[in-house]
Amino acid sequence: MTDANLTSWIDVPAGHDFPLANLPFGVFSTADRDARPGMRLGDHVIDLSALHAADLLDGLGLSVDVLSAPVLNPLMKLGKPTTVALRERVQALFASDSAELRDRPDLHVSCLVPAPSVTMHMPVEVGDYTDFYSSEDHARNVGKMFRDPENALLPNWKHMPVGYHGRASSIVVSGTPIRRPMGQTRPNDDQPPVFGPSRLLDFELEMAFVTFDGKPLGERITTAEAEDYIFGLVLFNDWSARDIQKWEYVPLGPFLGKNFGSSISPWIVTLEALDHLRVAGPQQDPKVLDYLKYEGNSHYDVPLEVEIVPEGAASGQIVCRSNFRHMYWNMRQQLAHHTVNGCNLRAGDMMASGTISGPEKGSFGSMLEISWRGTTPVAMPDGSERKFIQDGDSVVMRAPYFGAVTTTVLSAKK
Ligand code: MN
Repeated sequence: MTDANLTSWIDVPAGHDFPLANLPFGVFSTADRDARPGMRLGDHVIDLSALHAADLLDGLGLSVDVLSAPVLNPLMKLGKPTTVALRERVQALFASDSAELRDRPDLHVSCLVPAPSVTMHMPVEVGDYTDFYSSEDHARNVGKMFRDPENALLPNWKHMPVGYHGRASSIVVSGTPIRRPMGQTRPNDDQPPVFGPSRLLDFELEMAFVTFDGKPLGERITTAEAEDYIFGLVLFNDWSARDIQKWEYVPLGPFLGKNFGSSISPWIVTLEALDHLRVAGPQQDPKVLDYLKYEGNSHYDVPLEVEIVPEGAASGQIVCRSNFRHMYWNMRQQLAHHTVNGCNLRAGDMMASGTISGPEKGSFGSMLEISWRGTTPVAMPDGSERKFIQDGDSVVMRAPYFGAVTTTVLSAKK
């Protein structure tokens, strides 16, 4: 656990996303050196390989190879006790009362890299990616629009955190553009399908957690054990082509309407750093099966917002203000459900929450809901309006402690 008010001898302005109490993990490169693991503190990136070279990480069982790797997977393979000890050591080194590194200015240039000068990379190689569907308001909104307003939730929804297996290789880091997908759609229900660029490109506001190695195939992880297998979280934009999705999804679920890309924020915020934000979850009714039971503060109070910035505009329009606490199913239940059949996990697997919508208009986490299937467009500052996302738009998702995931949409390659 971390004191949320911890201060550093590095100046970090109040309200900054990356105070000493946070210290998220990521992978960065500089003009003179390839991608390697780092941690973020204020406006600096801490070079973990440089701390190691200066013998400041002794006794943690970390090799130079692990701290010079282009992804965090080798570090995460060492398990939670190691990543927790590493974060605590770095926290101690940078705490206000610690002179060990502060009084060695000769080391500061190598250990502390100005954040604006680095390029961020995918922090992990994602082996498998699962997307859940765990916000009740989102599931209800979609059920109302596409099925039956009286029976918006399908019969299984309150009994298990439903999800599907998505594509890992097309998950990209913030700043990587996404190209509007081509595909097959059926704009008119009484006409044959057509081929062309998706006309209903959408974002989904989500968060995703990254796992450590799990148990061997055939064994399951309980809700009580789940935290031991969760490294941390990122903001996650699950890009969705609604027209492709609508025509293809029966009977086997999402496919080409989803797998052309998902975007994540670059810094993985550890579960430990979020501890002070824990809050109670909703009362789950009907009662869940025993393997899904979880006592305690299962949710996190993380305010989330989404902004659409048109091409060339300095600022855009905030179209959503939501909160990670608006989930019905929590991460421990998702992980217990994912492994209840013996499914294994590997370090770097990513599990996204599903679109995080709140109860009110203004807190809906996709344009599908915000524009209510295109019937209520959103006005933009430049006088244009949006039902879905246009070419050249940038979609920015932000949260305190997480920074942002920003993605610009390129026109389709016809
Ligand atoms: Mn999704």
